[in-house]
Amino acid sequence: MIYDAAIIGAGPAGLLCARQSARRGLRTALIDSHAEPGAKLAVSGGGRGNVTNRILAQNRYLGEDTALLRSVLRSFTCEDALALMRELRLPVEERDFGQIFGLRPASLLAERLAVQCDDAGVDFYLGETVGRILRPAASEHSFGGTEDEFFVLFTSRERIRARTLVLACGSPACPQLGGSDRLARLAVSWGHTLVPFRPVLVPLIMPDGWPLAGLEGISLNVRLGLERGGSVSWPDPEGIRPLLFTHRGVSGPAVLTVSCWWRPGDGLVIDFLPELSVSTLLDARENSRLLVKNLLSRHLPARLAKALCPPELAERKTAGLSRKDRQRLADACHRFRAAPTGTEGMKRAEAAAGGIALASLSRRLESLSVPGLFFCGEIVDITGLLGGYNIHWAFASGQLVGNALAETLKKPRPHHGRQG
Ligand SMILES: Cc1cc2nc3c(=O)[nH]c(=O)nc-3n(C[C@H](O)[C@H](O)[C@H](O)COP(=O)(O)OP(=O)(O)OC[C@H]3O[C@@H](n4cnc5c(N)ncnc54)[C@H](O)[C@@H]3O)c2cc1C
Repeated sequence: MIYDAAIIGAGPAGLLCARQSARRGLRTALIDSHAEPGAKLAVSGGGRGNVTNRILAQNRYLGEDTALLRSVLRSFTCEDALALMRELRLPVEERDFGQIFGLRPASLLAERLAVQCDDAGVDFYLGETVGRILRPAASEHSFGGTEDEFFVLFTSRERIRARTLVLACGSPACPQLGGSDRLARLAVSWGHTLVPFRPVLVPLIMPDGWPLAGLEGISLNVRLGLERGGSVSWPDPEGIRPLLFTHRGVSGPAVLTVSCWWRPGDGLVIDFLPELSVSTLLDARENSRLLVKNLLSRHLPARLAKALCPPELAERKTAGLSRKDRQRLADACHRFRAAPTGTEGMKRAEAAAGGIALASLSRRLESLSVPGLFFCGEIVDITGLLGGYNIHWAFASGQLVGNALAETLKKPRPHHGRQG
């Protein structure tokens, strides 16, 4: 059997791509190392899957070629993702910041997509890791003909031949769920540029004995800034989000988001009272007789208030503070500085930034150096912030490549589904 399309990776990108490819009449193979499709999808969003977002703006993505991102997102909108969930009979709910979550386990999403692929006639090769691929010998091949015009994929048990190949095999994030950069490195040997992968959407580690050590479990809304070379930026477009103190440092949506920009050497600037002003609190007549420590613990978790308050100010009345003391207190609450020593790494990262450079790809996400080779999902150098943007990108790019395969092979056959 020679497939029209072999797709490596049964994550959200590969599943959408395979479904579309088979529905467009292509003989399609979908291969994954895992015994079940969608291993990452199943654990996403705390097991519910934050599958898309109402605000699919470009500033919710890292990456350079914004024109390509814009055109892919236009081809598959939030409404399309919602229609997909309806088609799969999976109800959703909208949460803060336009985030759309499933109401049923995300594993059902993976299962139902796999059933649709199966109905469309996709052949699954599960529990099969592709270790080696031969690309067609001819640089300009005509999608059919002699043996050396096919991609040949080798797993430990199978040898799969196909006219076109899709790498939908994700990033090295979360290796315990199949994350790997092996095929991205293979693509480099075929002439593609790889923007180095780095862990993002990942907790940050603080040095031993940092001033806020021992607060694990406390979570509160903050505004989180990044300090680089003496200047401070506030990159999170949503502004205020929860920060969680962990055993080794900080996590929570605010930190995971800012981790997308964090580089070794960068500092954090934390505004622990983003919706209040310490100066206004100190000026309020009703607070003038309060001790500083009591004023802070009215507005912050008590253990955090204690840790933030300069000890020599804690027992002073707010009315008696000098200008310099007021400034110190405001700095501690609104501009607390911390210097992470690193991230928790790929093992704890929800995604990896970097991937196959867009300069190596056409607008249809086809390789510019190997005709018939396509990329979709997280392996491409486009990474979303926290909020359903990565699964949406995987859906959108997978669907786009599924259509591109059919157009490349120009074999419009009506979809009759699997017989029997
Ligand atoms: C804990 C966690 C929570 C997350 N939550 C969210 C969320 O709520 N919303 C959101 O938008 N994003 C979330 N993400 C990110 C999101 O899951 C990924 O961006 C998305 O799954 C990427 O889809 P993909 O299809 O490109 O790759 P993947 O889902 O990673 O699928 C790639 C597949 O390729 C297979 N594969 C790799 N190499 C080979 C090989 N050589 N041979 C055979 N198979 C191979 C892997 O086994 C894997 O199944 C989360 C990630 C994690 C880890």
